[in-house]
Amino acid sequence: MGDKFAVGVDLGATKVLASVVNLSNGKIVSTSKKKTRAGTEGFDLVQRLSLVIGDAVEESGMSCDKLSGIGIGAAGMVDRERGVLLAAANIGTNDVPICEPLKNQFSLPVKLGNDVEVATLGEMTFGAGRDCSNFVCIFVGTGIGSGIVHGGKLHRGGSGTAGEIGHVVVVPDGLPCGCGGHGCLESYASRTAVAKSVVYDLSRGFDSVLRDKVDPSKGILRSKALAQALESKDPVATRAINRAAHYMGLGLTNVINFYNPARIVMGGGLIEAVPLYLELAEEEARRRSLRIPARKTEIIKAELGDFAGTIGAALLLS
Ligand SMILES: [Zn+2]
Repeated sequence: MGDKFAVGVDLGATKVLASVVNLSNGKIVSTSKKKTRAGTEGFDLVQRLSLVIGDAVEESGMSCDKLSGIGIGAAGMVDRERGVLLAAANIGTNDVPICEPLKNQFSLPVKLGNDVEVATLGEMTFGAGRDCSNFVCIFVGTGIGSGIVHGGKLHRGGSGTAGEIGHVVVVPDGLPCGCGGHGCLESYASRTAVAKSVVYDLSRGFDSVLRDKVDPSKGILRSKALAQALESKDPVATRAINRAAHYMGLGLTNVINFYNPARIVMGGGLIEAVPLYLELAEEEARRRSLRIPARKTEIIKAELGDFAGTIGAALLLS
């Protein structure tokens, strides 16, 4: 018998990416992409998802009855049982039933997971964690999320929120965080934190090549612009990355000392674009962690890049 295939969908803050994936080897057969935000009132998330999925299936040249189903990894909180996107602050939507309408439309099983969970599943099966049964995946972008693999299985915790490394406290009573807390790692080491640090320096009169590249009200800064600024030794960008990497080093130290993973896999936009960030964070973590795990824990880059989300989402069907 031939290989099994499924559709994997990466539902992110800025785009929806769908791929038909070969579940036996993780290879991508076809891909389709659309912007998430239409900016119009009639914007319909489910409709948009169905268009992207339809396009990917059509391009694969396969008929729906050859597919095992559709897996979706969404940037937000999900109800896996009911197939409902509960809260997605970055997509700007709440309580959207996703699985039911897509199941009816495509006559296929549809499964919903969280974006970090499925990206970890992808790295575990076909990426940087495929030969390792105890590791942690950490993704650094707009926010910071992580997935824990224990004994070869995803560890979801007592109520399904395990791995919220972005909300470990690194500064008591520090900066406010989107979660309602203060001093969380995400507020100091994410790309958003780097952007805010740049905005702060600019407001204090320091000049930077990033002056026109950063949105001061929203704190948005592209990883690529940041990487270019670092290449040109821009002092504001360098200071911001040093600071963020320092705090990520503290976060990694906590993970290493507490969980003693065999490996830490680092992925996400900031890791991909700015090698210096991971270098500095690793240095800090190795210097601070307990002596034995400081030497033994492998710290490596994720391997599936932009497709970790779609490959991992498809794996929800395997
Ligand atoms: Zn927080």
